[in-house]
Amino acid sequence: MTDEQWLQRAVDLATANVTAGGGPFGALIVRDGAIVATGVNRVTLDLDPTAHAEVTAIRTACRELGVFALTGCTLYTSCEPCPMCAASALWARLDRVVFCANRHDAADGGFDDRAFYELLAAAPQTWPTAVEELRLVSAAAPFEAWRDNPVRVDY
Ligand SMILES: [Zn+2]
Repeated sequence: MTDEQWLQRAVDLATANVTAGGGPFGALIVRDGAIVATGVNRVTLDLDPTAHAEVTAIRTACRELGVFALTGCTLYTSCEPCPMCAASALWARLDRVVFCANRHDAADGGFDDRAFYELLAAAPQTWPTAVEELRLVSAAAPFEAWRDNPVRVDY
């Protein structure tokens, strides 16, 4: 299968998901020429604003493989990952992300991907959600506990 063929599968998942009542986004994760997992947008169906196609595919792939890092895998997605999904791809240590439509196409469809990229490039004080640092004296305690834990699993 070529990149174009895998990507077409993601686009087909996205289109079919609209008929199924979900958002117009689909993704799949491929390793060694085989599909590990697929995902579609389930935000409104699951009442979960983080249930984007890419995150759903990453969660399923990790469960399927029994890992928390998807090294060696490629994520094919029907649309450019939003900031959350782009960060999720980084956290998942994916080798590649290949997308079809871009943030401008998503904006034309009524989605905030491009707007959120622009917000992240601006000062947090301009965001519609207030994000405030309130530094307690115990701020570093969780990290001290983490560093002192001899059986921690680094990720
Ligand atoms: Zn997303």
